[in-house]
Amino acid sequence: MDHFLYRDGALYAEDVPVSEIAASVGTPFYVYSTATLLRHFQLFDDALEGTEHLVCYAMKAASNQAILRTLAQAGAGMDVVSEGEYRRARAAGVPGEKIVFSGVGKTAQEIRTALSEGIRQFNVESEPEMEVINAVALDLGVVAPITVRVNPDVDAKTHAKIATGKSENKFGIPISRASEVYAHAASLPGLEVIGIDVHIGSQLTELEPFKLAYEKVAELTEQLRSEGHNIRRLDLGGGLGIPYTRSNEAPPLPVEYGKLIKDTLGHLGCEIEIEPGRLIAGNAGLLVSDVIYVKSGEGRDFLIVDAAMNDLIRPAMYEAHHDIVAVKEPAPGTEMQPYDIVGPVCESGDTFAKQRNMPPLKSGDLIAFRSAGAYGAVMSSEYNTRPLIPEVLVNGDQFAVIRPRPTFDEIINRDTIPEWL
Ligand SMILES: *Cc1c(COP(=O)(O)O)cnc(C)c1O
Repeated sequence: MDHFLYRDGALYAEDVPVSEIAASVGTPFYVYSTATLLRHFQLFDDALEGTEHLVCYAMKAASNQAILRTLAQAGAGMDVVSEGEYRRARAAGVPGEKIVFSGVGKTAQEIRTALSEGIRQFNVESEPEMEVINAVALDLGVVAPITVRVNPDVDAKTHAKIATGKSENKFGIPISRASEVYAHAASLPGLEVIGIDVHIGSQLTELEPFKLAYEKVAELTEQLRSEGHNIRRLDLGGGLGIPYTRSNEAPPLPVEYGKLIKDTLGHLGCEIEIEPGRLIAGNAGLLVSDVIYVKSGEGRDFLIVDAAMNDLIRPAMYEAHHDIVAVKEPAPGTEMQPYDIVGPVCESGDTFAKQRNMPPLKSGDLIAFRSAGAYGAVMSSEYNTRPLIPEVLVNGDQFAVIRPRPTFDEIINRDTIPEWL
């Protein structure tokens, strides 16, 4: 459920007509709904009611400062995967004790920043990393709270590029080696082992893989406790999928996911952390674009729009589907026609959809890509020297630009010419 609905024949973002934002900021742009962001955060928070827990928003999904502050003010913690994200979380007002640091390649510098400025825990992904965290902690005279990310070897049944919980993936340590790795961690004086971390992938549309993984985590908790480790916190990762089409089967709801967590792990008395990204931000954002040309090809018509793969790379990278709608609501009974919807970038991969049924459109009409809030703006680039597009946040009947479009001069002047030129 989101807050992008037709009203009086036009698409609205909460109480603001999308066309009004387009007239004010120009196309293309991303627009996010505050109410949708908060609603999705609250669904997770409510799903874990009755259990000590923290919902740590995985900000890599959408990391604009205004989005982070919106969620931080609602009580969210943050899951970060780089020093840049750590600094974003702090700048948005999130205290160190609500920030967890994930990722397979944390550098000594990143670890130092987080340890000196405050961190809830590091989710450690390898033994070499464990040694570095230990060394930095000893150097700073502090003790680093850690969990070890275990790889439970379960099939997340999602797109190969976003599955992370099989033994062939680069993430975590094999669960079969956990005993040995935890013993090693416990022997390092700069570390305090507090829990277990697991994250098996993204855009999961069934609960079964989570169930298999969490059952293994429950077993491992008891085993590690019997080996003398004080396991008191379980970080269960993110990954719950969202409906990218309104027609297909709905993925499980946060409340069902919360029940599964309680059923599989509740008896252990651990504090629970989850790290949802996509489900909080995905359906809270639209990418709005303008039709530049309608081009008739052989046997097919192309809608050439002013957004491109550099603005939203998911279709090119993951063969992802986004529902695409006309901002002006088609009149009842309008006959749909198929279009290939493409951007202006010089690559055939710059195709958002093939033979997509749309109402008849013409140059100057606005379209909106739904479910574009997660892994949209954050993955954009300036390929083809196309400026990063603005991000806009709506809250009720107000809207604000939360990242402006750079000017061409700003882009060009970011480069520097060596003195020999
Ligand atoms: C990407 C990621 C998440 C968030 O995944 P979503 O599918 O966006 O919920 C959470 N935790 C870790 C460690 C991740 O890498």
